[in-house]
Amino acid sequence: MKSINPATGEEIATHTELTEAQIDAALDRATATFATWRETDIAERTALLSDLADAYHDHRDRLARMATLEMGKTLKSALVEVDKCVAAFRHYAKEGPAMLEGGSIPLASGGNADLVWLPIGPVLAVMPWNFPYWQVARFLAPCILAGNVGLLKHASNVQGVGALMQEMMALVGAPDGLFQNLPIRSGAVAAIIADNRVAAVTLTGSEDAGRAVAEQAGRALKKVVLELGGADPFIVMPSADLDAAVKQAVTARIQNTGQSCICGKRMIVHADIYDAFLERYATAMAAVKTGDPFDPATDMGPLSSEEQRRTVQEQIWKMKAAGATLIGGETLPGPGAYIDAGILTDVPTDPALMGEEIFGPIAMLFKAADIDDAIAIANAIPFGLGSSVWTTDPAEEARFVRDVQAGMTAVNQMLSSAPEAPFGGVKRSGHGRELGPYGLHEFMNLKSVYRK
Ligand code: NDP
Repeated sequence: MKSINPATGEEIATHTELTEAQIDAALDRATATFATWRETDIAERTALLSDLADAYHDHRDRLARMATLEMGKTLKSALVEVDKCVAAFRHYAKEGPAMLEGGSIPLASGGNADLVWLPIGPVLAVMPWNFPYWQVARFLAPCILAGNVGLLKHASNVQGVGALMQEMMALVGAPDGLFQNLPIRSGAVAAIIADNRVAAVTLTGSEDAGRAVAEQAGRALKKVVLELGGADPFIVMPSADLDAAVKQAVTARIQNTGQSCICGKRMIVHADIYDAFLERYATAMAAVKTGDPFDPATDMGPLSSEEQRRTVQEQIWKMKAAGATLIGGETLPGPGAYIDAGILTDVPTDPALMGEEIFGPIAMLFKAADIDDAIAIANAIPFGLGSSVWTTDPAEEARFVRDVQAGMTAVNQMLSSAPEAPFGGVKRSGHGRELGPYGLHEFMNLKSVYRK
């Protein structure tokens, strides 16, 4: 598997895929480690999480540089991502013990059902390249705390990140087999899911990958958590602070060069302020500085690969053929998978078109006649991951909270995940939750212990 720097097109490294025998050995190692890790007390697990937080903090520059080299995000945003992992490890270290208290339910027939949280075994994580540390950390931190062990199938283009994450585990003296990075291609995943040594699987990525993995998990009757992205609505009503909304609409769409599952991708603006919004938004998007991701002055690096840029270009062509108008969004001459920030207006409110997850810095802009229209546009697509709503009217806010079909709604701010709060979607954005106590409990056995 090749790591190619998307800013230059140059090959950085090749990573050799594991053989079947090596995968088999890794699963044995996971099984053996689980047998002892499941018996450790919580203090040992939280101490390891704290050590891991320290290791990520101490190595933040090295870690961040690898992400920038492999997938093109700006170095400053890669550093923020590493720091977010540190926060997640610390959060589970501090709050973990309380999350593992099960409580007790009195029974009408007499006695109690005492609830005990127990680990379930080795969990496979199939992860994407867009936040190559954070996506894995939000699986790994609860995995360690639960007493499970982790197996990572990272995206093919960020194998250097996967290797560094394993190195961090070794550095803090984690048992061999507590977390193993498996350099494998997606074709090797089905056999691992089917293997009796693996208890469950979690995937973050595209709908196609999610469907494949869910089918395999279903066949093996194994628990699966899916985080599949979407085309989040970003709704702006007349009472909102327009300048703040425009500013955040830019950040939401250009952060990570538009390659984020929960950034606002469809800006749905009330007709009364549509023209004012468009004028300011177009000016602000045109001012976004695209360039070398290592340069601190750069707002936006390249897309993660040449292939990813082709996908975005094809999506733009399809939108234009359907009558949409593109403002900005120019493809920049090579080398490097660069594209400028852009806005698509006059996009037909066709669920198939609107539901495209444009994984690039291109916003879709819609004019809504009123709040009903805004909610109808927001809900017209098969996805339901995040949403951002801008209003100072409490009645409107209540309507959005109740009626926008999404796993998360951010009010007067762009949506951003936090270690403490559950993260996940509805509809075709997946099922299950990550982060907070809910993410921890997804891969645990809640045992009821009946006592007289
Ligand atoms: P994928 O969903 O294909 O990749 C995500 C992970 O799943 C990778 O580790 C990949 O491995 C693996 N994978 C892919 N197909 C299978 C399969 N059939 N069985 C098992 N594992 C599989 O994302 P892409 O990188 O191809 O990006 C395509 C599109 O997906 C993007 O344009 C974007 O729309 C969406 N996406 C959404 C993300 C999100 O956060 N919601 C993250 C990434 C992508 P490998 O790399 O080896 O193929």
